[in-house]
Amino acid sequence: MKYDVIIIGSGLGGLECGVLLAQCGKSVLVLERQKQAGGCMQSYRRRDSYYDTGLHYVGGLGKGQSLYGAFKALGLLELPWVKLDEQAFDRIMIGERNFCFSQGYDNFTDTLAAEFPSQRKALAAYADLLKNSDEHQLDSLIPLGDGEEDNGAAKRLFDEQFSSGAYRYLCDNFSDPLLVEVLAGASLKMDLDKDSIPLFTFLHGNSGFIQSSWRLCGDGNMLVNALVRKIEYYGGKVQCDTEIKELLEVDGRITEAVASNGERFSADVFISDAHPAVTCSMVSSSALMKNIYKRRIASLENSVGMFTASIKLKPKSVKYFNFNQFIYRDEKVWDLQNSADSVNGVLVCCRPESRRTSSGGTVVDEWTRHIELLTPMPWDLLRQWENTRVGQRGEGYLSLKKKFTNDCIELAERFLPDLRSSISEIYTSTPLSYRDYNLSPNGCAYGIKKNFKAPMLTVLSPKTPVPNLLMTGQSLMLHGLHGVTMTSLFTCAEILGKEKVWNLINL
Ligand SMILES: Cc1cc2nc3c(=O)[nH]c(=O)nc-3n(C[C@H](O)[C@H](O)[C@H](O)COP(=O)(O)OP(=O)(O)OC[C@H]3O[C@@H](n4cnc5c(N)ncnc54)[C@H](O)[C@@H]3O)c2cc1C
Repeated sequence: MKYDVIIIGSGLGGLECGVLLAQCGKSVLVLERQKQAGGCMQSYRRRDSYYDTGLHYVGGLGKGQSLYGAFKALGLLELPWVKLDEQAFDRIMIGERNFCFSQGYDNFTDTLAAEFPSQRKALAAYADLLKNSDEHQLDSLIPLGDGEEDNGAAKRLFDEQFSSGAYRYLCDNFSDPLLVEVLAGASLKMDLDKDSIPLFTFLHGNSGFIQSSWRLCGDGNMLVNALVRKIEYYGGKVQCDTEIKELLEVDGRITEAVASNGERFSADVFISDAHPAVTCSMVSSSALMKNIYKRRIASLENSVGMFTASIKLKPKSVKYFNFNQFIYRDEKVWDLQNSADSVNGVLVCCRPESRRTSSGGTVVDEWTRHIELLTPMPWDLLRQWENTRVGQRGEGYLSLKKKFTNDCIELAERFLPDLRSSISEIYTSTPLSYRDYNLSPNGCAYGIKKNFKAPMLTVLSPKTPVPNLLMTGQSLMLHGLHGVTMTSLFTCAEILGKEKVWNLINL
C-alpha cells in the first residue's frame, strides 16, 4: 500500500503530526523503532509500576492560552490534568531561601516583587515580554500572511529574540544578581548555557508555565495512548518495532523507507521525527541532499542530557505536593552545567495519583507514590562508556550513577527530610539510556542546542533539500511539550497549508 504520509518516529512530534494529518483525511503510517510508542513521552514499566521519562509538567493549557487550541485539536485536553498551585507552582530554593513563581503574569510579578521590591519595574517589563512572546509565538512561527507587511512585527520579534542572549538580557535589566539566578531557577527543563541560550528559547521555556501549569494525573503513557488511539480513529496506523535504516531517493523524491528487516514502505511524503542527524544518515544516496548539508547538521552541538532518579515511595510516606521544587546548593544557577561532575541543582517533582471517592467520583490522593529527581549530566562524564551497551557498562558506570543518585537525594532532602527512608524502589537513567532508546546523539534531552550567536544555523526548518522529506520534533525550533507541539503545527502546515492548520487549532 502507498500512504499519503509516512512518519518515522513516534515521539510527541511524530504522533502529533500523525493525528493532525489523519484528521485532515491523509492516510498515515507512523513507524517506530522501539517496542512501544512515545519516545521521550512514554513511561516504562518496572515490576508493578510505570515510571515517566520526559513528561513532568506542561504549561498553557487554560482556555484561550497558548497550548489550548492545539491540545484540543489533538484530543489531549480530555486527559485528567491537575492544575498546579496557582501561587507557587515552581519553587526555587537557593541556599536557605525559597522563591516562588506564581501563575498569571501579574501574579508572577507581584510574588517576586514582594521578595525583590527594588526590581518591581524590571519584573513587570519582563512579564510583559513573556506575555508578548507568548501571544506572538504562533504567528511568528507560522505567519498566515505572505508579505513582509503582514508578518513584519512577529517576524522581527522572532529574529530579535533568537539572536540575543537570555543571560545578557537578564543582567542588563535586573540590577540584583540574585534575581538573575532566581529567574533561571526553573530552567532545568532547558539547556541553560549562558553562552548560547537565546532569549526566545528562555522566554518560551518559561512563559507557557507562567500562564498556567499542569500535571497529568497518571503516567505519560496516557498521553501517548490518547494520540495513538486518535490516529487509529482517523484510519491511520502506528507500527512499532520497525527501525528505518534507509530512505530511498528516485528522481529527487523519497519513494520508500526501508526497515532494518528489509521491509519497505512507500508514501508521497515522509516526515522524520528522529534527530536531524539521524534523518540525514538515512538518506545515503541523494542527488539533492548534499554531503555539505549532512555535515553541517551532524556538526551542530546538542543540548545537555539529563540524569533521572525515579523513585517509588513506600505507601503513605510522602504527601502529594502540588508544585515543582528546584533546589540549588548555592547562587550559581547559571553555572550549574559547568560544575556538573557534582550535583549542584536538582528538580524534585511528584506524580498525582487519583483515588475513588465514596460517591463514585475521583480526587487526587493526599499521598504520592512516585517522585522524580532530575539534574543535568554532561556527555563528557559518560564518554568512556559511549561504545558500551546497557547492562554491560561495568562497575565505574554503576558507581557514577550511584554517586549522582546519592547527591540528588541529599539535595532533595533539604525539601523532603525523610526521603531516603521513604524509598521503596529506585531506577536511574542517564543520557546513555536516552541515546540508546531514542537514538538522540549524546543522549541530548532537548535536541540540537540553540545558539543566539548562530540562530540561522541552529534553528532548523521542517524542509530538507529533498522536497517530499520533512522533519519535525524538538531539534528544529523549540523543545518540550509546548515547543514540539508548535513545531508539529509548523511541519503540518507544509503539507496542509497554513490556513488549514490555523483553522484546526482555532475551532
Ligand atoms: C528527562 C527529561 C525531562 C523532560 N521533562 C519535560 C517536562 O516536564 N515538560 C516538557 O514540556 N518537556 C519535557 N521534556 C522534553 C520533552 O520530553 C521532549 O521535548 C519531547 O518529548 C521530544 O519529542 P520528539 O518527538 O521531538 O522526540 P523523541 O521523543 O526523541 O522521539 C523520537 C522518536 O523517534 C524514534 N526513532 C529514531 N530513529 C528512528 C528510526 N530510524 N526508525 C524509527 N524510529 C526512530 C525514537 O525511538 C523516538 O521514539 C523532558 C525531556 C527529558 C529528556
